[in-house]
Amino acid sequence: MALATNMRRNACLVTNWLVASGKLNFLSVGFEHASYSIIRKTNGLRIFGDQLEASRTYATSCAKLSDEIQKENSDSNMLVDSFGRMHTYLRISLTERCNLRCQYCMPAEGVDLTSTPKLLTRNEIMRLANLFVSSGVNKIRLTGGEPTIRKDIEDICLELSNLKGLKTLAMTTNGIVLARKLPKLKECGLSAINISLDTLVPAKFEFMTRRKGHEKVMESINAAVDLGYNPVKVNCVIMRGFNDDEICNFVELTREKPINIRFIEFMPFDGNVWNVKKLVPYSEILQTVTKNFVNLTRLGDHPTETAKNFRIDGHQGTVSFITSMTEHFCAGCNRLRLLADGNFKVCLFGPSEVSLRDPLRQGADDNELREIIHAAVRRKKASHAGMFDIAKTANRPMIHIGG
Ligand code: SAM
Ligand code: SF4
Repeated sequence: MALATNMRRNACLVTNWLVASGKLNFLSVGFEHASYSIIRKTNGLRIFGDQLEASRTYATSCAKLSDEIQKENSDSNMLVDSFGRMHTYLRISLTERCNLRCQYCMPAEGVDLTSTPKLLTRNEIMRLANLFVSSGVNKIRLTGGEPTIRKDIEDICLELSNLKGLKTLAMTTNGIVLARKLPKLKECGLSAINISLDTLVPAKFEFMTRRKGHEKVMESINAAVDLGYNPVKVNCVIMRGFNDDEICNFVELTREKPINIRFIEFMPFDGNVWNVKKLVPYSEILQTVTKNFVNLTRLGDHPTETAKNFRIDGHQGTVSFITSMTEHFCAGCNRLRLLADGNFKVCLFGPSEVSLRDPLRQGADDNELREIIHAAVRRKKASHAGMFDIAKTANRPMIHIGG
């Protein structure tokens, strides 16, 4: 406790220095004074369900579900929900641990970790992944926490990439140790990569992540380009007063390299003291980009695409926007999440989770596990629309993050 308090105090001192020295004008410094009662297990959020439920008319967005999706989704083995959405994309959180402490994601002292015996083993991950792939999942993304810190990450990639029916094995990583691991990961079948980077200024990186390592992330992005990943996706959460002045510098990275910059709207996680003033909406980021770069063209998106994608004349790379807060993309959602503790989530913004680990360890056979998965998918809600409106009017964080 005393250690945590000291760490927070030190972080505050650094913040104050950065602000006072004019190196940062970010923040109403709320991040450092957050009450970090985080329930964080995974790459997911938990919204206060009652508030959300009360405010939603769930059916609306599904009326927009395209014919294209519905036509594809008739096979009963497939993971189709009651709105006709077929789920082909599974995100697996491989660990709750991380080697960074991004202010918008984790408290300085880290998160309460699930004890090791309660985490899925590699064999358990493989057994479940196999079930998902045999039910139509064709893309798996490895995430966390930080997936690259798992010692068996290469073996996991190799085994997953050998699953018959899997077309894409992707990873989202902070890039700190990626450069040296990537050649081997590529050999093991990692076919797509997202690297998170929120600033091009090393001092700001250190402030935001509470760790050094900007150079290493840049090295990883370049290594990924050199190894032929195309595109190399770069995730950038835009926060007012922190990095909204860097939008055009990020877009510049796409000029000479096959980099896809993905501007992500800042989401409210429990503990990150989300505040509507720090949210830079998609419309505003897009305006900044169009003012500074001519001939921005919207690319045709697949109905399940969560990003709005654009190309710019003369640029090798592309620019995308993930508009979870201001323009949700629930109608075409095809995503599922398996958390490091074996809990299964059908919606990042929904509160419900079902344990797959427990029945698996109690001896459930494949059919029984499949039925649990299918039943959870069938119960999936139509939409989390309205979260932004609720969050906007609230004075406190609305969501408990997990990993
Ligand atoms: N550690 C890995 C990384 O940072 O890439 C994978 C896990 S991280 C939780 C996955 C993605 O979520 C990252 O791109 C991160 O920037 C994004 N993220 C975390 N907190 C966020 C927030 N409050 N709003 C929007 N995106 C967030
Ligand atoms: Fe770690 Fe990724 Fe969260 Fe940053 S965003 S603290 S790198 S899990």
